[in-house]
Amino acid sequence: MSDTLKIAQALIRRPSVTPDDQACQDLIAEQLLPHGFTPESMNYGEVRNLWLRRGTQGPLFVFAGHTDVVPTGPEEQWAYPPFSGDVIDGMLHGRGAADMKGSLAAMVTACQRFVQAHPNHPGSIALLLTSDEEGPAVDGTVRVIDALSARNEMIDWCVVGEPTSSERLGDTVKNGRRGSLGGTLTVRGIQGHVAYPHLADNPIHRLSRIVSELCATHWDDGNEYFPATTFQVSNIEGGTGATNVVPGDAQAKFNLRFCPDSSASSLEERIESACKRHADSFQIDWSPLGLPYQTLPGSLLSAVEDSLKEITGHPPRLSTDGGTSDGRFIAPTGAQVVELGPLNRTIHQVDEVVNADDLDTLSDVYEKVLDRILK
Ligand SMILES: [Zn+2]
Repeated sequence: MSDTLKIAQALIRRPSVTPDDQACQDLIAEQLLPHGFTPESMNYGEVRNLWLRRGTQGPLFVFAGHTDVVPTGPEEQWAYPPFSGDVIDGMLHGRGAADMKGSLAAMVTACQRFVQAHPNHPGSIALLLTSDEEGPAVDGTVRVIDALSARNEMIDWCVVGEPTSSERLGDTVKNGRRGSLGGTLTVRGIQGHVAYPHLADNPIHRLSRIVSELCATHWDDGNEYFPATTFQVSNIEGGTGATNVVPGDAQAKFNLRFCPDSSASSLEERIESACKRHADSFQIDWSPLGLPYQTLPGSLLSAVEDSLKEITGHPPRLSTDGGTSDGRFIAPTGAQVVELGPLNRTIHQVDEVVNADDLDTLSDVYEKVLDRILK
């Protein structure tokens, strides 16, 4: 069994359901301390973060990732126990195998081999680990980035280990992510008897007109790297339960995944004006905003593309789809950010699994990226 696989297995056997790190970060630190990395804990609340850096000079290359995993769901539905880390027929099983303990293990062994071969490499290498990516993501990467920025420790290049591949390892990398804007819209009307509608003002009717308009809105066209902005309603609520009562208010929870061509403030304005067209009294409680990010072609993207071509024989497809990632907190500092990890088909599902050989290949690709970038 390869070192990468052994480390991935040991990480999976620690049931680090978000935000509980279960000493996964200690395990990674133990692997890298003998190779000249210096650990620094940056814990906030119940979230554990670890900054592991080798070198004091710039430029700074960072591998970023998370040690927390999503809950298992019903364990009896798993073919193998979710924290067993069993390797069966070449597949490593368990919660976090693909998202993203396999990537963490690949980063560790890539760093080990690289610094053994290049003990006096230029610049610095660091790992940024958090146990709060799958949870609220409030005390995780964003806090570490704030602390690093406050002391002027700037990241030049960052590879995030999120599982980006779809059919074959490295077929897709992410050079950006859409933004996420959401909120709860409450429309207020006047409660009354359904038989006396002239005395009532039905907020469900008003809300449905607003929802219809927003669903039919063309927000933007997208661009070369980003699909067009989309709007979805996830929850709708209204009514007293009685069939003869017009309720006093109605609510909808909604979310937009947006392309950087639309700013969050412009989208907020457009939503508010649609509400005004159909309701006299309403309130929108906006959820915390996830900003989009985009990494343009440059030294990091080239290093990732060339390394994938060399190791897997294929150039990757660039993509910005999927959910948000911690890349959104790192990119605003000016860092080039690219996400590259294993197949994402089983992430957050029962029977999460990753191809064991893919992790060794991923480790080789990560090492090549270091080779190319820290010349
Ligand atoms: Zn993840």
